[in-house]
Amino acid sequence: MAKPADTRTAGRKPVAKATRSAAETEKIRAALAARRDELRAEYDQTLSEITELQRDRLTDSAGDDQADTGTKTFEREQEISLANSILERITQVERALERLDEGGYGWCERCGNPIPVERLAAFPSATLCVTCKQLEERR
Ligand SMILES: [Zn+2]
Repeated sequence: MAKPADTRTAGRKPVAKATRSAAETEKIRAALAARRDELRAEYDQTLSEITELQRDRLTDSAGDDQADTGTKTFEREQEISLANSILERITQVERALERLDEGGYGWCERCGNPIPVERLAAFPSATLCVTCKQLEERR
C-alpha cells in the first residue's frame, strides 16, 4: 500500500542548532590557552632579541659602516614588526577565549555548524568551518 506523500515530512522535527558539549568547550579552552602561552613565550623571546639587537647596535657600532648600520636597523625593524604581529595574535586568542565564555565562539558563520577543535586551535580567528572556507575561496 502506497503511503501518503506527506508522512515523509510530517514527523520531522525542526533542526536544532548543534550544541557543543562542556567537554568540547573545555578542550577548545585548553587549546586556546595553550596557544596563548605559546605565543607569549614567542613574544618574550622576540622582545629579548630586540633588546639584544639594540645592545649590539650600541656597543659595537663604532666600526660599522653605513651598510652594517642599515642591516641592523632593518633586522631590528623586522623583529619589532614580528613582535607586533605576535601581540596581535595574542589579542585574537584572548578575544576568542572571551567569546567562548559567552558561548559565541567556534560556530561557523555560514552554516552554523561547530568548527572542529583542531581547526580552532590552529586558527583561533577562524569563523568558518573548513567546508565553507573552501567554498568561499573557490568564489
Ligand atoms: Zn560552515
